[in-house]
Amino acid sequence: MTLNEEDLQGFRNSIARFIGQQVEPYHEQWRKDELFPRELWNKLGEAGFLSVQVPEQYGGMEAPVELNMLIVSEFARAGYMDIATAILGHSDLATPYLVDFGSEEQKLHYLPKMITGEIVGCLAMTEPDAGSDLQSMRSSVVLKNNEWILNGSKIFISNGILADLAVVVAKTDMTVSGSRGISIFAVDTDLPGFKCGRNLEKMGMHASDTTELFFEDVRLPVSALIGELNGGFKHMMSELVRERLGVAALSVAHAEGALDLTVEYVNERKAFGQKIADFQNTRFRIAEMSTELEIGRAFFEKCCSLYDQGKLEPTMAAMAKLFTSEMQGRIVDGCLQMFGGYGYIMEYPICRAYQDARIQRIYAGTSEIMKEIIGKDILRMQ
Ligand SMILES: Cc1cc2nc3c(=O)[nH]c(=O)nc-3n(C[C@H](O)[C@H](O)[C@H](O)COP(=O)(O)OP(=O)(O)OC[C@H]3O[C@@H](n4cnc5c(N)ncnc54)[C@H](O)[C@@H]3O)c2cc1C
Repeated sequence: MTLNEEDLQGFRNSIARFIGQQVEPYHEQWRKDELFPRELWNKLGEAGFLSVQVPEQYGGMEAPVELNMLIVSEFARAGYMDIATAILGHSDLATPYLVDFGSEEQKLHYLPKMITGEIVGCLAMTEPDAGSDLQSMRSSVVLKNNEWILNGSKIFISNGILADLAVVVAKTDMTVSGSRGISIFAVDTDLPGFKCGRNLEKMGMHASDTTELFFEDVRLPVSALIGELNGGFKHMMSELVRERLGVAALSVAHAEGALDLTVEYVNERKAFGQKIADFQNTRFRIAEMSTELEIGRAFFEKCCSLYDQGKLEPTMAAMAKLFTSEMQGRIVDGCLQMFGGYGYIMEYPICRAYQDARIQRIYAGTSEIMKEIIGKDILRMQ
């Protein structure tokens, strides 16, 4: 599928309509509930906003990455980072493992329903003692009597409460350390022994669920293995490129949304008998932030285009995630400052934007880990 500017604008318009009808009127309540309802996934599916990259033979649009990124960006720009990250978790974290490494049986079983929202996906990598250092994960899967037996736990899993499918990363060979002996499994969340922990109370992104998962002798069919046995770390490294591109998309769009709110506000609010916009400091800050955003967007778009050509290297993806998420933090903070005390009050969307932005420098690999990846590659270190 190729998309021209008219197609993209059509998607932007339909997402704006969807937000106006299906999200905005209810979002305040969902934030109080710390969860949006399960039906929203079906509505997102019906609207054609889920897993749009899936090949046509499994019911998908086979869209370029640009469309996945546009979808999450429009939710982020409108200030719904929680919905945007939930969609990203489903469409760009969980789905790609099945598209790229899944068996034909897995693709036929899961993908059509991931497009409609009948199956919600999550990606479970992080463990209480293995976040940045994923290689020290301890969840394990062993083969017994022609079944895989999964034990262990995960933490901070986006979509974990509502998910029907967890793409779980675990050790399949405990005799080897480091990146070896890791594999990936498709785990149905209704299997006996699969338990969801509490919905973790977060600083921001209140309408989305993030949870712990516990596995106690979960019996999986042999066909649950995704990709190569003991080759999971390699698969993860290649899919993390897309995940980091997704975080970059959210960073740019969310910062653009915050800047739009700020431009409107400084043109209305007055101090010392003039608009806040009339102070030279305001013009300079708006100029600096807009310029930085242009640079961030240009870099992000270059990375999207490289991704579609199969040429986005891990180092470049790490640079995009590092630069844009740090930029988002600076811009949202700078915008909030222009709201004065109102910026600190929850009913002002800029306050929520500040809370929602903070995680972007942490998940999908922290800024420090991004610097390690980039620095080691440039210095040609292992
Ligand atoms: C809201 C939310 C959603 C998430 N969603 C998911 C999800 O869907 N699936 C999933 O698997 N995970 C998810 N995560 C987990 C996330 O990816 C991890 O929290 C993140 O990778 C950091 O790991 P950690 O929390 O264990 O921090 P740690 O690894 O303990 O890091 C602590 C600090 O030490 C620094 N540090 C660590 N190692 C180094 C180093 N080598 N050099 C320099 N500094 C270092 C880090 O940068 C950080 O500042 C989510 C987390 C949150 C909070």
